[in-house]
Amino acid sequence: MEYDLHCHTKYSFDCRMEPRRVVEIARRRGLRGLAITDHDTVAGAMDALQYQDENFLIIPGFEKTTEAGDILGLFMTEAPDPKLKDPFAVVEFIHTRGGLAIMPHPFAYRVTIGKELVKCLDGIEGFNARYPRTQVPGIAFGTDEIVEFARANNLRVTCSSDSHDYGAIARARTVIPAEIPEEIKEAIRRGNTVMAPPPPSAVDRIASKIGEAAKRLLGPSEPPPTLWEGGPRLGDDDEPRPEGG
Ligand SMILES: [Zn+2]
Repeated sequence: MEYDLHCHTKYSFDCRMEPRRVVEIARRRGLRGLAITDHDTVAGAMDALQYQDENFLIIPGFEKTTEAGDILGLFMTEAPDPKLKDPFAVVEFIHTRGGLAIMPHPFAYRVTIGKELVKCLDGIEGFNARYPRTQVPGIAFGTDEIVEFARANNLRVTCSSDSHDYGAIARARTVIPAEIPEEIKEAIRRGNTVMAPPPPSAVDRIASKIGEAAKRLLGPSEPPPTLWEGGPRLGDDDEPRPEGG
């Protein structure tokens, strides 16, 4: 069963899509369900719920802006106060209501995630179709690095389109062997999911070749990126790993 776990509608400030059409298209593209995660509100998800039926599941949620970057709340029917920016308070809000806290597009805007926050999150997006390679100037984190980071920190990975336009819906999917919300949640918690990103574009393939060639010529970038404050550097296996990692 394939799900797109991050999608927007017109209830987001930066999106004009109608929930009804979003669901129609997601169905047509073979998804079993869709998480509607509008910025700072569950209104889009609540609207989309009326188009759910036995063949198609809406996972309600939101994408909350915090001081530590965005946090997705999945399986949520209410959103925190828009003024709440403390990432720990947002994660607590999600967990006390039985939802999952996932960090979308990690490293897209910043180089680190606080170590304490990493311990609280359920997962991070291993692939986000809007940010196939991240945007931090001078540093290119790809899926491999993010998945390695997730593994080292006992985080689950999801894969999603983050679609803001109809063309992007279902572009990246998470395969989950479950159809009922509680079972889907449990599968994600256990890491019983498979990422299904789109094949890399021609531009991505060329960028990756250039990156490989530069690495051969110049050696690894210096200094190597630290993925969380005070944490081990990528590929450094000598550092102790967090509990359960
Ligand atoms: Zn988003």
